[in-house]
Amino acid sequence: MTDSPTLPDHLDAFYVGGAWVPPSGAGTLTIVNPTTEEPLATVPAGTAADADRAVAAARAAFPGWAATPVAERAALLAALGEELLSRRAMLAELIAREVGSPLKFATGTQAGLPPVVLGSYATLLDDFPFEETIGNSLVVREPVGVVAAITPWNYPLHQVVAKVAAALAAGCTVVLKPSEVAPLSAYVLVAAAEKVGLPAGVLNVVPGTGPVVGEALAAHPDVDMVSFTGSVRGGRRVWEVAAGTVKKVALELGGKSANVILDDADLAVAVKVGIANCFVNGGQTCTAWTRMLVPAALHDQAVELAVAATEKYPVGDPLAEGTKLGPLVSAAQRDRVRDYIRTGMAEATLVAGGPDAPFDRGFFVRPTVFADVRPDATIAQEEIFGPVLSILPYATEDEAVEIANGTPYGLSGAVFSGDQDRAVAVARRLRTGQVMVNGGAFNPLAPFGGYKQSGNGRELGRYGLEEFLEVKSLQL
Ligand code: NAD
Repeated sequence: MTDSPTLPDHLDAFYVGGAWVPPSGAGTLTIVNPTTEEPLATVPAGTAADADRAVAAARAAFPGWAATPVAERAALLAALGEELLSRRAMLAELIAREVGSPLKFATGTQAGLPPVVLGSYATLLDDFPFEETIGNSLVVREPVGVVAAITPWNYPLHQVVAKVAAALAAGCTVVLKPSEVAPLSAYVLVAAAEKVGLPAGVLNVVPGTGPVVGEALAAHPDVDMVSFTGSVRGGRRVWEVAAGTVKKVALELGGKSANVILDDADLAVAVKVGIANCFVNGGQTCTAWTRMLVPAALHDQAVELAVAATEKYPVGDPLAEGTKLGPLVSAAQRDRVRDYIRTGMAEATLVAGGPDAPFDRGFFVRPTVFADVRPDATIAQEEIFGPVLSILPYATEDEAVEIANGTPYGLSGAVFSGDQDRAVAVARRLRTGQVMVNGGAFNPLAPFGGYKQSGNGRELGRYGLEEFLEVKSLQL
């Protein structure tokens, strides 16, 4: 592995109206490699004027793209997926350096999932019912219009593609504001879009900070919809700002998901799968099962299994073979997670890891496990967004459900049981957008999104496409 990364081209510009354009301001964003703490790249920081320019380009392109035959849109999405796939190794290495995801995971998921999602939208368009008849009405679904996509850093390309693929499939045009912490893969997406001949103005990219470019887009009268993925705080602010123009707002926010292990589950499997899920991508996953709920009688056994798995969890350089846990994305994120670990030490029993840095360099945090955590503890209520697991004992199945549902979030979760029907029955009682039953695999066609403060929209597959469609009825 080399130490000189391949960076995308045009990092000194924005992509607007089918061209690389210079920024209107002089501000820059420095992207830091979290493993070395060295700068990796610099991109310009957008301004409200840059956002305006991009919205105008998207607005101008909208009628043409909305009128483009569905089969043509599908072919472009399929080609875009192929282009990304051909850049998979480069993208994986870039994201490993930018975010700290271990290379194997960066290859399989960070760079591997976006082509799958693009391909899924190309296929969906084959027979998507854009029109139906209800009595004397012809009901037609039309693209919402100009979409502002605002995305986080943890899955920097997947979060972008989940929005862009669905919006373009629907016939919308997009202004993307990628995360200021990890905008580099968005430049690769643009290179791929140029290569396949996506028409000018259909996809525009302006990196910048949330309060500047994000709010300018959310407030913009010519933006018809904001699709936001990020923190509850950011989502709340976007909604407030968007309210001025009553535009459509879709929010994909944080989580505090519960892994409910029932008394008849294979405990060793449930704990092992649960640990891997909690620590994946450094624990910086919105769906991470950060609360492990175990029957009180099995608590100590579960803790023993969790500690054993955590102590041999390979932490290190994301580019090194065998690493499963890289650094956190930034110094701020590392400090925040360490503060939570210190809070946890006053609330529960620390059984693995702790707040001390494992290495001299890099934004690393030790994989950490707390036992005997009370449901109302800070570490059992708030999203930590690091490799920190809380194990909570429960007395009855009803209490497990109550604890699982007892946070402001509802994004994901899991149930493990020796009896699939029992597991499904418990899964039905969870107030959350997804539940993995006995380790059920992630499905890129299944609707993804949150209950409660985890958000109000759905992404991926058919439900993700419908987010970007208006419904019109013609009475005949
Ligand atoms: P963040 O809210 O800080 O930033 C997300 C995006 O919103 C960034 O592009 C940022 O610039 C922008 N933003 C921030 N403040 C804004 C404002 N006032 N107006 C407009 N835009 C603004 O979140 P983050 O730290 O990048 O990501 C981590 C969070 O994202 C976690 O809470 C995680 O759970 C959540 N997340 C949710 C999902 C999901 O699908 N539900 C997926 C991934 C991450």
